[in-house]
Amino acid sequence: MSVRKIVCYPDPILREKTDLIQDINEEIKKLAEDMLETMYENKGIGLAGPQIGILKKIVTVDISGPEKRENPMVLINPEIYEKQGEVEGEEGCLSFPGFRCNVKRAEKIKVRFLDVDGKEHDISAHELLSVCIQHEVDHLNGRLIIDYAGKLKKTMYEKKLKKIQKRARKR
Ligand SMILES: [Zn+2]
Repeated sequence: MSVRKIVCYPDPILREKTDLIQDINEEIKKLAEDMLETMYENKGIGLAGPQIGILKKIVTVDISGPEKRENPMVLINPEIYEKQGEVEGEEGCLSFPGFRCNVKRAEKIKVRFLDVDGKEHDISAHELLSVCIQHEVDHLNGRLIIDYAGKLKKTMYEKKLKKIQKRARKR
């Protein structure tokens, strides 16, 4: 397993569309392991392919958290086919260091996906798992948490990013 580099906003890769995975081969299995490791090492509870520069429909999630690591899930070609209710909560994202914002999402979802053995799953998710899966599936469609933020908040974060980048260049 290896930890991959996280792609951060405003890298245009994060806006690209992703491809369906046709064949769950050794390369995909290795990718799934690397994604879990990368997610845990960065203290995340979810990671999507584009966040490590891979434009494929693959997502990892573990809502038990990076310390416990009790419930690793790999969702290949996830498809949310039913949404119910509404919840609003604060979210962060590994591609947005130092940024959090409120996001409105469906409270409950039904999602179909394949696991690393190619087995199809069809699950209902609610609470944190539901929100986390919706966040990651957004990534597969080039949609990011900053799209849910108000204009002012977005401008402020972009200014802050420019300062950070300037400082990094001086070093
Ligand atoms: Zn994210």
